[in-house]
Amino acid sequence: MFRKETMEMIEQELRAKVKALLKEGKVKLVLGYQKGSLPFNATPTIVEDEASAERLIFDFSCGPGLAKYLLRKNIHSPGQKTGIIAKGCDARAVIQYIAEKQLRREDIVIIGVPCQGVIDPNRVRKKIPDKEIVGYAIDGDKFIIRLRDDSVVSLNREEVIARACLRCVYPDALDADIFITQPRKDVEHVNRYNEIMEFEKMGSDERWNYFENEFSRCIRCYACRNACPMCYCEECFVDKTDPQWFGKGTGLSDTMLFHIVRILHVTGRCLDCGLCERVCPMSIDLGLLNGKMNKEVKERFNYIPGLDPERPPALATFDEGDRQEFIL
Ligand code: SF4
Ligand code: SF4
Ligand code: SF4
Repeated sequence: MFRKETMEMIEQELRAKVKALLKEGKVKLVLGYQKGSLPFNATPTIVEDEASAERLIFDFSCGPGLAKYLLRKNIHSPGQKTGIIAKGCDARAVIQYIAEKQLRREDIVIIGVPCQGVIDPNRVRKKIPDKEIVGYAIDGDKFIIRLRDDSVVSLNREEVIARACLRCVYPDALDADIFITQPRKDVEHVNRYNEIMEFEKMGSDERWNYFENEFSRCIRCYACRNACPMCYCEECFVDKTDPQWFGKGTGLSDTMLFHIVRILHVTGRCLDCGLCERVCPMSIDLGLLNGKMNKEVKERFNYIPGLDPERPPALATFDEGDRQEFIL
């Protein structure tokens, strides 16, 4: 089930290629991952010289998105060559930024890595509640989770990997300038829209009640917004005080409004990367709402974000042939 290349092989090749890029002056810096202080969370890092490339890793803990750092002026600016170690979803974010005129393709060196999904710590903790997890290892197609009391628990890939990764259609970076090992041609994935089609069978009241129930748990921490690669406004609508669009509390109507406006802001741009859902401390089913909107955009405009840097976002263009039965 897992690729034949070991993580050690991937890391060795990754470090060697990053060192070469830096040595030859082809990039000023490279965004990547280093080991984190928690077993399931690698830490984003910036590598600017060959010695620091030794700390680069790539494994199942590399969940945080890196692409959003490219929009920080103190990290990347036009004309600077910047490398990014890119899983499929990171590369799609870069492509979408180019489509949205936030980045120039010629400034970015996409270093594709063979992504096999990332661990969702919340899913593992649900399986092993009340125990301190200190590490993990891979054994065949199993994750062996090590606990503080020296015992181990064996879990299947489907129990550990993030839900978005289990249905991911583009795990290997598209348009990579360099690829570590080889991109796959035969990616297995489930039909992303199966779950959505089941949801669509529900009546509108039932669907509303489902989301009301989900969003009633929201604590308005904004982790979903902060993690989302496509939420990059300098000032988010929820932080505006003049005009203040709605209240800041966790009352249901304000919370629902926050989620409705946020999903409208990312509709036609959402990469289905699942970061929002993975960072949510309340395990709210954000993937279902994102998936429903992505399906609508695909069906209405034949548009999947993050695939074509030349094609503007679906909702940023108008075509006379667009379906508009909701207006008439
Ligand atoms: S969404 Fe796809 S590319 Fe992104 S981490 Fe998951 S499997 Fe990898
Ligand atoms: S809304 Fe969620 S799934 Fe979509 S791009 Fe943002 S973080 Fe990824
Ligand atoms: S991360 Fe979860 S709890 Fe926090 S604002 Fe988003 S949906 Fe609400």
